[in-house]
Amino acid sequence: MIVAERKPFDEIRNMVTGYKKVLTVGCGTCVAVCLAGGSKEVETLNAELNLAFKKDGISFGSETLERQCDMEFLAELDNRVDEFDAFLSMACGAGIQFLAERFPGKPVLPAVNTSFIGVNLDVGWYEEKCRACGQCVLAMTGGVCPVTMCAKSLFNGPCGGTNKTSCEIHADQPCAWLKIYERLSGQGRLDQILQVSPPNDWANQRPRKVIQPGYEERIKAMHS
Ligand code: SF4
Ligand code: SF4
Repeated sequence: MIVAERKPFDEIRNMVTGYKKVLTVGCGTCVAVCLAGGSKEVETLNAELNLAFKKDGISFGSETLERQCDMEFLAELDNRVDEFDAFLSMACGAGIQFLAERFPGKPVLPAVNTSFIGVNLDVGWYEEKCRACGQCVLAMTGGVCPVTMCAKSLFNGPCGGTNKTSCEIHADQPCAWLKIYERLSGQGRLDQILQVSPPNDWANQRPRKVIQPGYEERIKAMHS
């Protein structure tokens, strides 16, 4: 899931200052699971904002969509948009941008910082696992991501600075390539570590697109 954190309250307060009616919009998917921007967090933030702006006459509405990264659900705001001067979105960066695209005439303010793609270690505790590099090498690395887990994101073996079992950059972080070695060794697949990954294409970065097999014709017909 995408993991996010709510911005510091003072930053949010500064962003909404000057507006009269703001709609705080939550998202019911990733940010709800990681306790950053679901319906509960929307109500909590609005309670704090209402208290802070009590004397200034700013009012805060609330709405939590099932997903802000989906136009079908954003359409649910069509009949509310004119009631508000601005949106305060608690979705991830993708949801916030899609909300802004749906309503280009309306300021859209981010109430959360999108942190990473990660997993749930415990309630309220998350860890990054993937940086969406677009060229997944987990088959060769025993399921350990070298982009995320190695401080230098090395695809082809350790840097040479491994300090006993730790990363030379962070003493409390195990060296990713030691982890990869141990995992492959335990699976009897150590030969995989000799596979060379070609350099990733980091050039000409622009928004990437994925069309799942079987959907090409339909998408071409609908968007040509
Ligand atoms: S190699 Fe790592 S960053 Fe790249 S897609 Fe796989 S898990 Fe994600
Ligand atoms: S010590 Fe290991 S994890 Fe740290 S940067 Fe070098 S190869 Fe990567």
